[in-house]
Amino acid sequence: MDTQTTAIVKELLSETKKIVIVGHKNPDADAIGSCLGLSEFLKTQGHVATVLMPNTFPDFLKWMPGSENILTYDQQPEQCEKFIDEAQVIFTLDFNALNRVGDLETPLKSAKAEFVMIDHHQQPDSYPVATYSDTSMSSTCEMVYHFIDALEQLDSLSETIATNLYTGIMTDTGSFRFSSTSATTHRVIADLIDHGAVNNVIHESIYDTNSPDRMTLLGVALKNLTILPEYKTAFISLSQKELDDNNFKKGDTEGFVNYALSIQGIIFAVIFIENKQENIVKMSLRSKGNFSVNEFARTYYNGGGHTNAAGGRSTKPLDDTITEFISILPHHKDALVNA
Ligand code: 5GP
Ligand code: MN
Repeated sequence: MDTQTTAIVKELLSETKKIVIVGHKNPDADAIGSCLGLSEFLKTQGHVATVLMPNTFPDFLKWMPGSENILTYDQQPEQCEKFIDEAQVIFTLDFNALNRVGDLETPLKSAKAEFVMIDHHQQPDSYPVATYSDTSMSSTCEMVYHFIDALEQLDSLSETIATNLYTGIMTDTGSFRFSSTSATTHRVIADLIDHGAVNNVIHESIYDTNSPDRMTLLGVALKNLTILPEYKTAFISLSQKELDDNNFKKGDTEGFVNYALSIQGIIFAVIFIENKQENIVKMSLRSKGNFSVNEFARTYYNGGGHTNAAGGRSTKPLDDTITEFISILPHHKDALVNA
């Protein structure tokens, strides 16, 4: 965090404040871990901090310490609005634009509080008074660690903070394998372990809690895998019926797209997931090397994210979405083949 941003934040936090911390819609472990880690840290500094999320999050993240105190806007709208209205400072974490919080955007836009952003996505919006944005960072959780460091408060790291930050760094780096994992990331992880994060327990809590239904759904997803070697592309689709037939629960499809990306020679992978309730097809896009799925998702799917991991949506039916996707690929053949 640069010295100017640090100075603004120090000034904002120089007396006890009512603080709200918000993550993005469909929060992942990085959003939840960074919000909970920051919240616990701010409490050690004497502030009153509350974590709000736009909507509920998957069961496999509900063990994260403090997650039981998170308020979700889809379930507790009045309470969320009251906290936002009374907040003096609002931290927005792990997203770059207010439209990433769904319906929570409206109350946030009318908030009187000063905003601080901590985020590693590209093209951050300009609503905050202090923006700590760094697209080279592995995760927002790693940034929260550097934020605490910039405030010279690493002595306040507790087991709760360490566990939350470790979890988000681990998931956003694909267990420390993506190119965003730096030597500094590993130093941060080492310090988090020193402060009480128990690495094997965290890995098991996230990765070894699959339900039999999820495993069956993975089988369906892999049967639906299509490989287009001429475009170094592979994609998976799941219809609403296939989800329903396998008792789909939020979070069950997390990581499925990586199986498509793991095929030798594939550098672009997409999963299309039909959502009849929202009347959309939700997409997760992944790439290797310099083929930017952020650009691809922004151009065609009203989405965005990072160079190698992005999301978006289509309002066309599932079949049409896939047909259209295949028709777009020739326009990017050079970039895909030379990536
Ligand atoms: P995932 O595919 O795991 O949902 O998301 C991958 C990355 O893209 C994450 O960093 C996530 O925040 C971002 N992302 C996912 N969906 C959207 C979207 O609809 N819009 C934007 N701007 N980013 C998204
Ligand atoms: Mn993240």
